[in-house]
Amino acid sequence: MVRSHKPVERYRRFGAAVSVLAVVGLAVAAFGGSTVSGSTVSGSTVSGSTSAANAAQNPEAVENVVFAIHGGAGTLRREDFTPQVEARYRNNLRRAVQSGYEILQAGGTSVEAVEAAITYMEDSELFNAGKGAVMTTDAGHELDASIMDGSTLDAGAVTGVQHIKNPISLARTLMENSRHVFLAGEGAELYAQHRGFDLVTQDYFFTERRWKSLLDAKAGSTDFNFGETNTVGAVALDQSENLAAGTSTGGLTNKPVGRIGDSPIIGAGTYADNATVAVSSTGTGELFIRQVASFRVSAGMEFADLGVMEAAQAAIDKVAEIGGPDSGGMIALDKDGNLAMPFNTTGMYRGYATADGEIVVAIFGDE
Ligand code: ASP
Repeated sequence: MVRSHKPVERYRRFGAAVSVLAVVGLAVAAFGGSTVSGSTVSGSTVSGSTSAANAAQNPEAVENVVFAIHGGAGTLRREDFTPQVEARYRNNLRRAVQSGYEILQAGGTSVEAVEAAITYMEDSELFNAGKGAVMTTDAGHELDASIMDGSTLDAGAVTGVQHIKNPISLARTLMENSRHVFLAGEGAELYAQHRGFDLVTQDYFFTERRWKSLLDAKAGSTDFNFGETNTVGAVALDQSENLAAGTSTGGLTNKPVGRIGDSPIIGAGTYADNATVAVSSTGTGELFIRQVASFRVSAGMEFADLGVMEAAQAAIDKVAEIGGPDSGGMIALDKDGNLAMPFNTTGMYRGYATADGEIVVAIFGDE
């Protein structure tokens, strides 16, 4: 394994790691680019979007939805995408939606559909989850994931895992086989081994694009609020009218070792309750934790009788209240199949399927 399990050793190795990375960086420079370059798909400056602007772009909930995904909110502008990169994203989003939708069509559960779509995105290096996850400040990968079953309020979550190919599957396994909800780091990986998961080495997660993003962040050349986007999430409503939600991420580029965002925290990054709504959030995790953003949607519907669009927009506005614009977005699917997808960034990778099989994907704020 590339990284030690022992934190002290990791810190001692920090200096050495930086030297090794400098050499890798030279190699990257010498041997050229990957198919998706960081500079192509992520802008390095923020244009001033406001939640009001995006609220105007997404005023109504979409009806008759059974499945939806996001691939992260962030600074997404048409001019930063080549046609090829944009097509790759749209294609991956569509396939992720399809993978969940097909399970629901075949009578599968909302939990199965959520896991399938998130696994697909974890395996795609386009997204910041599983393969292609962003890097910590010492150039490692620490992955977070959570899942919740709205029919039982069962939940499973893992944080800081470094050797699990599909963290969402570990979260689901924990949810379904343990009375515990949340496992961290080494303990989560021991549990994974106990449950028969194969471990992967850290280099499995490595991509040149995220390496470049780390170098950019360390050079201070990025000034967006929460760095690299592409956290993934899914929400589903199955034929038995059960809701589920899940989220998976590598977190934020250059994050401190041990940092935990909202994605693995039930109520912050993920929430599902059959009585109200299933939610998966994306954005500056610290803000979503402080505003308990995903649960806030459910609370707005339960206690203030808000519709899903109003409740989700109110939750995003609360996040913006403490973090300003460009702080993130969410997907929220209510028990009647109404979908809200508010965000206060210039874009959010997203897609959904209706009960009739219509599949829609979008990236930018104006679509
Ligand atoms: N919410 C994630 C985190 O803070 C990042 C993201 O959604 O892009 O870890």
